[in-house]
Order: sequence, then structure tokens, then C-alpha cells
Amino acid sequence: MKGWYAEMLKNHAPRRIMKIITCVFFVLFYAAAPCFAAVEKTANEPLTVGVPSDRCPVFYKNPDNDEITGIGVDLMRLAAEKAGYHATFIPITEKSLKDALDNSSYDVVMPFGSAIDSASGNESIVTENLIQTPFTLVTQGRKNLPPKNKLHVGMLKSLAAVSETVKQLFPDMEISMYDTMPECVKALRSGEVDALLHNSYVWSYVLQKPSYGDLVVQPSAMFSMDFRVGTPNNPKGQKLIARLNNGIAAISDTQRQAIILDHTTRKLYRYDFSDYLYQYGLVVLLSVLLIIALCVIASQKIKYLRKKHDEQIHQMMGHDPLTGLLNTSGFRERVEELLRANPDKHYFLSYNNIRNFKFINDSFGREAGDALLKFWAKVFLENISEEYEAIGRIDTDHFVALRLITSEKNMTTEAKKIFVPVENFFIDHDKETKIHICAGIYVLTPQDFQTIDVDHIIDLARMTEKRVRINQKNAFALYNPEQWQKSKHNAEIINLLPTAIQSGDIRVWYQPQVDAETGKIVGAEALCRWHHTGGGWLPPIDFVPILEEAGLIFELDCFVWERVCQDLHRWNEKGQRRSVSVNVSRDDIREDRDIAAHFQNLLQQYDLAPDQLHIEITETAYAENADFLIKTTQRLRALGFYVEMDDFGSGYSSLHMLKEVPVDRIKMDLHFLTASGDLEKGRTIVSCIIQMIRQLGMDMIAEGVETVKQADFLRSKGCRSMQGYLFYKPMPVSDFEKVLMIEEMDASDYR
Ligand code: C2E
Ligand code: MG
Ligand code: MG
Repeated sequence: MKGWYAEMLKNHAPRRIMKIITCVFFVLFYAAAPCFAAVEKTANEPLTVGVPSDRCPVFYKNPDNDEITGIGVDLMRLAAEKAGYHATFIPITEKSLKDALDNSSYDVVMPFGSAIDSASGNESIVTENLIQTPFTLVTQGRKNLPPKNKLHVGMLKSLAAVSETVKQLFPDMEISMYDTMPECVKALRSGEVDALLHNSYVWSYVLQKPSYGDLVVQPSAMFSMDFRVGTPNNPKGQKLIARLNNGIAAISDTQRQAIILDHTTRKLYRYDFSDYLYQYGLVVLLSVLLIIALCVIASQKIKYLRKKHDEQIHQMMGHDPLTGLLNTSGFRERVEELLRANPDKHYFLSYNNIRNFKFINDSFGREAGDALLKFWAKVFLENISEEYEAIGRIDTDHFVALRLITSEKNMTTEAKKIFVPVENFFIDHDKETKIHICAGIYVLTPQDFQTIDVDHIIDLARMTEKRVRINQKNAFALYNPEQWQKSKHNAEIINLLPTAIQSGDIRVWYQPQVDAETGKIVGAEALCRWHHTGGGWLPPIDFVPILEEAGLIFELDCFVWERVCQDLHRWNEKGQRRSVSVNVSRDDIREDRDIAAHFQNLLQQYDLAPDQLHIEITETAYAENADFLIKTTQRLRALGFYVEMDDFGSGYSSLHMLKEVPVDRIKMDLHFLTASGDLEKGRTIVSCIIQMIRQLGMDMIAEGVETVKQADFLRSKGCRSMQGYLFYKPMPVSDFEKVLMIEEMDASDYR
């Protein structure tokens, strides 16, 4: 080979080689010439093809670019290309292919099984078959269909041309036409038709719809139809069809199969809402039902929890967590309810308290204390009628019970029935401690049913219990009606004070003080009296403590002090210079009140000397608020007032106090001489006190001297000043002035 090639190069000149190359070039050029001509023609000769667009996968719009595509389109494009055309596909807008044949804007229309006349009656001409399309039947489920001549099939109206062919092929077959595929399926499912007919490629697309899962394609094709391109039968059409036939003939089977496969294997079906609903409807439905069920359960649970919570709150608000009995508010509410509902019944309220509960807790522990309280609650509950009676725990060991009084029931025995087991609680548990219960019982009055003031009723029972606690060791007592009268009286006193002062119902009486040696009046104590509307005089003991408790005593004292100053001034004017002792309540002396300045103003106002006003401060006041009282006393004395310690010896006197408190005079209470006990010892004490006071350099006066014996004894020990019924009782100012006048007269007689 190598030799042949070298020989040739050697024998033939380069000119001959050039000739050969030129010949090869011309041969190749002429061989390829038709191809270049075709390319040129395609570019120049467009072809407009009218096609349906609703027969996926044969004709459909590509969802990506909205261009018409499909098996029919690709085959036609290929055939056109091979025939030297550039095909453009547009969707036919006419109702049928027959109508489309009359529309000159399409060069050709497809698909046709065979040539048909146009809607206007013009003849058409069609190409060779592009592809054989199998038509198959679809049934609902697998079915043995009746023979073809008895078959009733459903078809789409858009397949009118196909139906013509079917009629020709199967003249006895009944055909019903429907506008849409859902209508076809509906007719099939309702049994209106035996089967539906369409081409197999379309079924491969349509049956992807989930709700058509029950539809089955019959195994063998019923018939196959040609798939041709048509155009009006005229010279132009004939020429065009002839060229297209060349193109169709140039398509190989492989190309056909490739195009079919391309479109039938694509996942062209797109789910719409109804498909999703069909596909996932059950799941959605179940989910919705589940959510609804969960919501219902949750709301029920919330309702239940809320109710439970409310009950707990109510329980917490109305009940005592330890014993389960009502608490204060719960008891109040229940008692109000019972009194309102049973106005004709008789009730008592008992207030019960364990006297030695602290001891129980300290000795046996809190748990034992709690056990006792629970036991008490249990005994109570066993003995009461919950319909008409109520029991509550309103404090640690304080129980209250509203109980019925029945004719045969005695309140005391009823109470004992409950107390006895409780009292023996620890004894029954092998401990030697007995429980001491104090109970106060208040019997409800008709008034209580009207006002229904439960707190007030509890207070009254509590007061009784307190009295029992103070007086007795282990007992119970009924509410003392006097207490009620007393509180009514207290309220009256408080309300009436201002008017009593103004109207002159409060008066100042004087009790003269004498020098027991001479019998002469050396002074007087101003004591107030209240002229009561019911007639008679109220002693200070009936209103002073009430006013002290109500914080109103200063008002009364100011009145008394001023009245005394007025009297002293009047006597001064008459040339009768006297001094008077006034009482100062411990509540008058307060850090926010300058009592010394108050007295000083009075002196200035009535032109008095400070020593005319003796100021009595009770001994117990010094014991309570020593520092401030000592300061006040010092201040008063510094201003020239004469300060006395009242009631010395009546309280818990302390000798230390005598040293500390800088008073001018000690007013000795004769308690030691009058109280029960050894009188002789009392005398010794009094004589010692007198001696001590004298040695301390203070003045003294004995008050409450009632007998000559007392007076003689005091005098024998060196106490000359005395005040007492032995000499004078307290008297109105007019009487006092008379006494003074008589004394004056006696003195002048004597002179
Ligand atoms: P007090 O200051 O110790 O007054 C003496 C009380 O003893 C007076 O009672 C007087 O009537 C009474 N008394 C005098 N001599 C005898 C006697 O021989 N035997 C007995 N058993 N009692 C005698 P009164 O007037 O009932 O006053 C009682 C207390 O009321 C006074 O005790 C005083 O603390 C207070 N008080 C009286 N008036 C006033 C006042 O205007 N203001 C203030 N804050 N308290 C007053
Ligand atoms: Mg006094
Ligand atoms: Mg006194």
C-alpha cells in the first residue's frame, strides 16, 4: 500500500492531483444540492396547521411555554420538514374539523380518518396516514361487554368525525355524544352507556385522574383509525398534499415510535383541586374530624379544669383546708343564707376556743394539734344538721357554730355532747392532758334575723367566750344580755357627749378636801357628773372609761378644766382665793398634744396663779408611759403647777416610782385599809408609806376616808389632808359654795 501511494506521487504530476480533488468537490456538491435546496425552501415556505388543543397527549398545550405540542404535532412537524415546509400549529377555534376546513387561515387541518366534506359542503383532500391510532373502550371495572352491535358507547362531541367512522364500522352500535369527559364518565357510572370510546393515547392521559381509578381500558383495541392531514380539494391543496405525502413517506417507524413514547411516558396530567380533594379527601376529612375532636376534647378539658379550678378557688375561699369546715367568709355566707331561709327558727351561735392549744402544740407537736382540730371538726359535723346548721373554723383553734334551739334541746347539754369527746381526745390516746374548751353562746334575737350582721353575732359570742376564759378555767356561758345593753349604752354615750357638754348636762361637782387637824376645807377635787336624760346623775365610772376608749376624754376634760378655771376666777374676783384639783386622764397626755401649754392658756385666760390648779395624774398612767409622763410632769411643775399622783396604792404601786416621778403630792388611796385581808398589815403598810412620803419631802392626802377610825389612824401617822365621805361627798358647785360660806361664817364666829 505504502509502495502504491509513493508510486502514484511519483508518476502523476501535482496538476493531475488538483484535477482529482476538483472532480471530488463537484461530485459532492451536486450530491448535496437537493438538501441545500430543501433547507432554502423550508425557510421560505411556511405551513399553517390547524389542530385541536384538548386531546392530550395527541394535541395539547405545553404548560411550560404554552405552545401546542403532542404526538400529532411532532409527527406532522417532522412530515412537513421532510416535505420542505416549516409548520406552525395554531389551535382551531371552530366547533369541528368540518368548520375548520372552511377557514382559509389554516393551510391544512388535522386529524382526519378520511376525507370529508367541509361544513360548507366543499370537498376535502387528505394525506396519507401519519400514524395508526388505536381506539379502545373504557368500562367501569372489568366487565364482559355485550356484543358490538348491542353496545351503547359514549363519546366526546369533539370526536364527531370519529363517530362517523364508528357508525360506518358498527352500524348497530348506539352512540351517545357528550360535551365533556366528566359527563362521559358520569354516563358510564350511571349505566347510561356500556363503555366510553376514545383513542388509546388519550386514555393514557385521562385515566391518570385519581377519581377515574375505577375505569378500566379494555384489553384489545376496537379499531384503529387513520390519522391524516386535510385541506380543501383544489389545485393548491392537491399540490400541498402531494408534497406532504412525500414527507410522510420519509418518516421511519422508529421515529414514529420515539414520538409516541415521548408523549405517552410524560407525566402530563396536572392535579386540580378536585383531584387533591379526591386523593387526599379522606385524609383531610379524617384530619379535620381529628382536629374537631381534639378541639372538642380540649375545650371540654379546659371547661373541666376551669370548673375544678373554680371549685378549688371557691373551696379555698369558703373552706378551711385543714378541717374542711367553712372558713370565716364561708361561714358568714352560710349563716346569712340560713338566717334568710329560716326566719321562723330559733338559733344560737357558739364561739369555741381551746384554752391550752398552744401547750398542746408545744408539747405534742403541730401534727397532734392538727389531729385534735380535725377530730373536733369531725365530732361537730357528726352532731349538726347541715341543712339547718353551720360550723366553721375562723382561727387556729377557734370554731364557730350556728345551731338550732329546739324545744327539747338544751343548749348546754348540746354543747357538752361535742366538748366531752374533744376534752378527752388525748386521754383517749393514752396521754394525760385534758383539753380545756371555753365557749361563749349567743342566742339570736329577732333583730338579728333582720339585720343579719354575722360578724356582729360572732363578736357577741366571742365576747362571752372571752369572759368565760378570763373568769373560769373550762366552761361555757351564755351571752349576757347586759353586754348588749352595755354596748348600746356605750354608743349612746359617745353620740351624746357633744350635745351633753353644750346643753349643760355635764356638770362639775366639787368634793372638799380637809385638814383633819383643823377640820378646815383646804382644797377640793373637781369631779364631773352627767345629768342623764332619764333623770339622775351618771357617775364618771359610767362614761369616763367609754370616752377614754373612744378617744374622746380630752374633749370632756377640757370642758371640766375650763369650768373649774371659771369658778376659780369667779372666786378670785370675790377675794376667795382657792385651789382645785382636776383629773387628767392618761389619754390626755400624748406626744402630739402640749397639755402644759393648754393649762397655761387657761391660766392666762382666767387670770389665775398656777398653784391654784392642782393636776391629778393617776398612778397607773406613770406605770404605762413613764418617760413621757415624767417629762410632762417636770414641765408642768416648772411652769408652777402643783402635780399630784392620784390613786397611789390602788394599782401596782412601785416604790421605785416614788423616786422617779417628780410630783408635789401623793394622793393615797385607802385601798390597804378597806380591802379584805389582814387589816393590821394594811395599817402597817399605810403607816410605812406615810413615813416614806414624808421622808421624801412630798405632800400627801388620803382619799376615800369614810370612817373616824381611818381618819384618826391617818392623823396619828402624820397624814393631815383628807378627802372622803366622812367629811364631804362630791357636790354641785352651788352646794360647795354654800359649804364654804358656812365655814367662813363659822370661822368668823370663832374669831
Ligand atoms: P378619783 O380621781 O380617784 O376621784 C375620787 C373618787 O372617789 C370619786 O369618785 C369620789 O366620789 C370617790 N370618793 C371620794 N370619797 C370617797 C369615799 O369616802 N368613799 C368612796 N367609796 N368613794 C369616795 P367619782 O366621782 O365617781 O370619780 C371616779 C373616778 O372618775 C375619779 O377617781 C377619776 O379618776 C375619774 N373622774 C372623775 N371626774 C373626772 C374628770 O372630770 N375627768 C377625768 N379624766 N376623770 C374623772
Ligand atoms: Mg382624782
Ligand atoms: Mg383618786
